[in-house]
Amino acid sequence: MTLVRFAPSPTGYLHIGNARPALLNALFARRTGGQFLLRLDDTDAERSTEVFAAAIEEDLAWLGIVPDLFARQSARKAQHDAAADRLRAAGRLYPCYETQEELERRRKRQLGRGQPPIYDRAALRLGAEERAALEAEGRRPHWRFLLEGRTVAWDDLVRGPAHVDCASLSDPVLIRADGTYLYTLPSVVDDADLGITHVIRGEDHVTNTGVQVQIFEALGAAVPVFGHHNLLTTADGEGLSKRLGHLSLRGLREAGYEPAAVRSLAVLTGSAESVRAVPDLDALAGLIDLGEISRAPARFDPAELDGLNARLVHAMPYAEVSERLAALGIPADSAEALWLAVRANLNRVPEAAEWWRVTTGPLEPVITEPAVIAAARDSLPPEPFGPETWKAWTADIKARTGAKGRGLFMPLRLALTGLERGPDLAGLLPLIGRDRAARRLAGETA
Ligand code: GLU
Repeated sequence: MTLVRFAPSPTGYLHIGNARPALLNALFARRTGGQFLLRLDDTDAERSTEVFAAAIEEDLAWLGIVPDLFARQSARKAQHDAAADRLRAAGRLYPCYETQEELERRRKRQLGRGQPPIYDRAALRLGAEERAALEAEGRRPHWRFLLEGRTVAWDDLVRGPAHVDCASLSDPVLIRADGTYLYTLPSVVDDADLGITHVIRGEDHVTNTGVQVQIFEALGAAVPVFGHHNLLTTADGEGLSKRLGHLSLRGLREAGYEPAAVRSLAVLTGSAESVRAVPDLDALAGLIDLGEISRAPARFDPAELDGLNARLVHAMPYAEVSERLAALGIPADSAEALWLAVRANLNRVPEAAEWWRVTTGPLEPVITEPAVIAAARDSLPPEPFGPETWKAWTADIKARTGAKGRGLFMPLRLALTGLERGPDLAGLLPLIGRDRAARRLAGETA
């Protein structure tokens, strides 16, 4: 059985760029009948918070992702320690005592000599006495993984044949001097222990994969299948960071975007498929073939979201929005009629509230063609107003004044709504009602 995972650090809110790996994993699980694990990479105790952890779950649920399984790295420290001990015993994890400044100086020297700035493994050559002397000075070791100087190759789900030449990398630090883990080792231990079959993540992790494959092997664990997708970037090629608050999933939700629009943009950008609004998760899963994802950056323009969203909103049945309209303060007895009258004019559902305000007023009418407006007042039909009222009424005004087309409809729109543009008045008029319409045609604020 396929088991994939999405492994964010709870150090910020998820944004649309994080939605991409989350969805690619969730859709892959769907397609293969597998399961999805949410793993919180919370080894950085200072920056990880419960608020962000809860928000991640909430935001994933909004996207339509309900994890089958959960894990937290902070709860698995014993397993990480055991793995570190095994690596030490195998001679693959060694203590180092250099300070940041010493390492920086060495790097500069190497660069000055035209050498690659790779850690020179000086600590590997320390004898027991030298180590004891450094510890006596109060230095605490950080621990590096001893890489084998070979190329690690794998068949990438997205990129095809892929490789990393580990001879050109510094031995990575797995444990900091304060004893805390960097993400590299816990991720391998957790993936191995929890039986992750496929690691699908951004291409910013390709080099990590070279290192992590060596760690899997050093621990005698089965190496999962890897897939590295291109990263979502804005149209100017800029990466998305957590600083782009307006593209945080909660920001988008609060602004009234549909999860299906966000989903579609997050995964179809930079795929073999055209970017379009796909409402259904299974349908979206059917479109995403990891092997077809492009290797170029997945550039998108945040404005595309409006177009995708509008298409979804225009086709959205009332039953799907009734609760949200109620939450916007639109009374239940008018909400369906309002929805059907205005949805074709909306980019986002909350904009319905603006049309409710226009409908119920008070607003300042704009009177432009007094003759047309006078005829409109005189011929205003009796209640009840229904879907046919507008047609019959405007036919009557046309017969009385000879006004037609824009010359007829624009003065009426301006008088009834105060605006030059808006939804079809045939739908709005019954909601405005006879009394309010009469007052607006008389130039009164109503
Ligand atoms: N916590 C890591 C990150 O957010 C997870 C990467 C991975 O999927 O292995 O970058």
